[in-house]
Amino acid sequence: MDISVIIPFYNEEESLGELYQWIKRVMDENGYSYEIIFVDDGSTDGSWNIVTELKATAEQVHAIKFRRNYGKSPALHCAFQKAEGDVVITMDADLQDSPEEIPELYRMIKEEGYDLVSGWKKKRYDALLTKNLPSKLFNATARCVSGIKLHDFNCGLKAYRKDVVKNIELYNEMHRYIPILAKSAGFTKIAEKPVHHQPRKYGKSKFGASRFFNGYLDLMTLWFLNRFGKKPMHFFGILGTLMFFIGFVAVIVVGATKLYDMHHGNPYRLVTESPYFYISLTMMILGTMLFLGGFLGELISRNSPERNYYRIEEEF
Ligand code: UDP
Ligand code: MG
Repeated sequence: MDISVIIPFYNEEESLGELYQWIKRVMDENGYSYEIIFVDDGSTDGSWNIVTELKATAEQVHAIKFRRNYGKSPALHCAFQKAEGDVVITMDADLQDSPEEIPELYRMIKEEGYDLVSGWKKKRYDALLTKNLPSKLFNATARCVSGIKLHDFNCGLKAYRKDVVKNIELYNEMHRYIPILAKSAGFTKIAEKPVHHQPRKYGKSKFGASRFFNGYLDLMTLWFLNRFGKKPMHFFGILGTLMFFIGFVAVIVVGATKLYDMHHGNPYRLVTESPYFYISLTMMILGTMLFLGGFLGELISRNSPERNYYRIEEEF
């Protein structure tokens, strides 16, 4: 099969029929063999009925229905497991992404050999203040942290070589960082393609402004997991040693100063009267705690079923 189109949706009953017809038209015009996997992320409107009606008319339609709303990443994750096409294309259900982009995305994966092609909403039809500007900042941070030169990490329209979706694991809200996950799984041929974007035709956006804050925290998590996920001691140990060392030196200075003053008959105070004593004590305690954190991290990562899991590309 050439293409799997994956469409996660949450309460998008007005768009689904139209979107399906549009995708079908593009696929038929280009003669692709394809499947469309709809994932109902716990919709409470009539979306699921529409999907079951579509299934009755076309064998290319497949669908998964969650019992409740889990989020876009879990929806994509389940569809990724199911996808069988050589090229997997994800697309939002709200008609903001255009199916007309599919042939070019497919060509870039198949002929130019990219692992992942991410859409870039170059001209974007969303609210400026609540979405476009924060999104620029978000993308700049993601570029900086990951070293991947993309303008639009979170674009819903993306195309993947099948291997990629079978080798990355989305959870929580990690759909914003699929290119980063792909890169750390060893898929480095990542490109972007400017895509057409439309204003939302029906319904309203499912993510509020909290997305940017959560997105930023998730980015920190990803950075940490990538660098230190398998060797937490290298993170906590360095910080802990540094803290402890500073505290230790400082406490010696505090004590030595007192001894010096005592010896030379200068006026002197109890060490506990000096604020530096407490600061150095705190530093030493924090340092020890960080170290303990490192040991605990090592215990946890040692028990991880993934501790000896490597993605082997070829083997003779
Ligand atoms: N979506 C989903 N589960 C959710 C929230 C959103 O499957 O919990 C789907 C939604 O139906 C749409 C896509 O994810 O197909 C993108 O959502 P939306 O258009 O609301 O995001 P925006 O365009 O505002 O970034
Ligand atoms: Mg949208």
